[in-house]
Amino acid sequence: MKQTAPRILYGDIVAETIRQQVAIDVTKFTETHSRSPHIAVVLSHETEPSKIYVARKIEACQAVGIRSTAISQPCTQKQELISIISRLNNDPDIDAILVQLPLFPGIDPLAITDIIDPKKDVDCFSAYNLGKLVQGRTDGLIPCTPKGIVKLLQYYSIPIQGQNIAIVGRSTIVGKPLSLLLSSNSSWGNATTSLLHSHTQNMASITKKADIIIVAAGVPGLISGDMISSGAIVVDVGINRVMNTNGSSKLCGDVEMSSVLNKVSAITPVPRGVGPMTVASLLENTLLCAEKRTTI
Ligand code: NDP
Repeated sequence: MKQTAPRILYGDIVAETIRQQVAIDVTKFTETHSRSPHIAVVLSHETEPSKIYVARKIEACQAVGIRSTAISQPCTQKQELISIISRLNNDPDIDAILVQLPLFPGIDPLAITDIIDPKKDVDCFSAYNLGKLVQGRTDGLIPCTPKGIVKLLQYYSIPIQGQNIAIVGRSTIVGKPLSLLLSSNSSWGNATTSLLHSHTQNMASITKKADIIIVAAGVPGLISGDMISSGAIVVDVGINRVMNTNGSSKLCGDVEMSSVLNKVSAITPVPRGVGPMTVASLLENTLLCAEKRTTI
């Protein structure tokens, strides 16, 4: 049984250092090109969390000098959304396009993310940009949450190379690209990764062997203390709203904190963990899109 208190890996602290650097780089970009980087954020299906996420992203952009245009237009048909994206693809003043997910039920997100101009694909969800990740090309756009997670680990000097890393969740926006990034032959990776999902049998037999466990399933309490080895590092990506007994609600991740805290050597909190890193990566990626468009 591990005795010492775990390190809490606060993402908001790391995100602040990234934001400060992006603000400096945005100022340089703006001076050089007489215009600031410009992101379009498309909210086509209004849910409460989506509205909050979009507002936070826009606020974060403004704070570092990135221009943002919010397009809040309900789209129940694929074609409506395609028209908006086509217009933004062809607008020379737009550097980056973010389409907030989820879309209206029935609209296939892949059909939408695939038509974003790869140079403006700030989330890096298109087949082209994800394909580059499959090829091991990690010098361009990298999806925001995986990028933020690796930067968080690097900031806290947590070794990645050669480590056994179990990733729970294989979504296209978190688990799958994260697995590619961490296993890439690059400064982002060289780890050995296992990608777990809802059909994985005896998950604990894999997570117990992992040096680092990264959970992105959206299932509160999925990872408990008996599923990890003593001294493991846990990154909790999940963001779940759960009810308290008194009727109020609170945010929690996918980790059962009560049983995990006394076993881990380090863990990210929820909130203040991976979430701020995702937003910081979005700022970096927006600037990268703008820079790449000016050099092409
Ligand atoms: P998805 O719903 O797209 O994917 C969830 C994944 O978890 C799937 O691969 C699913 O498996 C797997 N899964 C679900 N239940 C289990 C289970 N019981 N055992 C093992 N695997 C399971 O979710 P996202 O990747 O979009 O998001 C995951 C979580 O991360 C959510 O809470 C979301 O809010 C949060 N999130 C947080 C971000 C941040 O910045 N902090 C950014 C993005 C997401 P299968 O494929 O078999 O269905």
